[in-house]
Amino acid sequence: MRLRIDIVTLFPEAIRSYLATSILGVAQKKGLVKIKLHNLRWFTSDRYRTVDDYPFGGGPGMVLKPEPIFRAVQFIKDFTESEPKVLITSPGGKILTQDKARELSQKKHLLIICGRYQGIDERVVELCQGEEISIGNYVLSGGELPALVITEATVRLIPGVLGDEESLCYDSFAEEDLLGPPQYTRPRIFRGIQVPEILTSGNHRLIEEWRREQAEEKTKKLRPELFGVVKKKEE
Ligand code: SAH
Repeated sequence: MRLRIDIVTLFPEAIRSYLATSILGVAQKKGLVKIKLHNLRWFTSDRYRTVDDYPFGGGPGMVLKPEPIFRAVQFIKDFTESEPKVLITSPGGKILTQDKARELSQKKHLLIICGRYQGIDERVVELCQGEEISIGNYVLSGGELPALVITEATVRLIPGVLGDEESLCYDSFAEEDLLGPPQYTRPRIFRGIQVPEILTSGNHRLIEEWRREQAEEKTKKLRPELFGVVKKKEE
């Protein structure tokens, strides 16, 4: 196994079926990754299984209590005898990028905490030495989708996870901050629009050049702020 991911959530059922689908499912069957879900309610200690409480200082909504989350993290550490990298999903965290996913894909063990309601008691971040991570500048109702996004972006970068047909090299952000080139499949003409002729020319060198040009054009047009930001290849 290359990577273990533990996810702590109030809604494991919302996550489970997606993890079993397609590439994430296959990666687990191949034994390259192990992904475990933990229901935060298992780690409560009162008879009502309370996970949230009113915010100190007043205000609307509820905040996830620190004890159950802390206990879940301790349990996972003890059980796995490992020191996972703890990620706390939060709209206030650093935004997930392809570089970050690459960094995470090199770890052995990740532990992702899904928040809910008004979020998580701030002390959890310090006590669990967590890194707050966001999937974008908008607010969702819970950390379940962010946990899936982080998991999928990370797992597909582990060697052996993707087959040839889903190869990484044409993806956006593969080696530098460049979007992927436009892609076409059959039919050659659809509703009067023809596939760029070069793609059917059979000249692989010209096709590569064309793809590179198109990727640059597309990046300049759609994401001008990315253009020209060439990254050092990490190895
Ligand atoms: N009051 C909080 C928002 C809470 S949203 C604030 O203003 O920051 C509830 C939970 O959803 C969060 O604890 C987090 O786990 C998750 N969440 C919402 N939006 C997210 C985003 N963009 N990225 C990552 N997690 C997010």
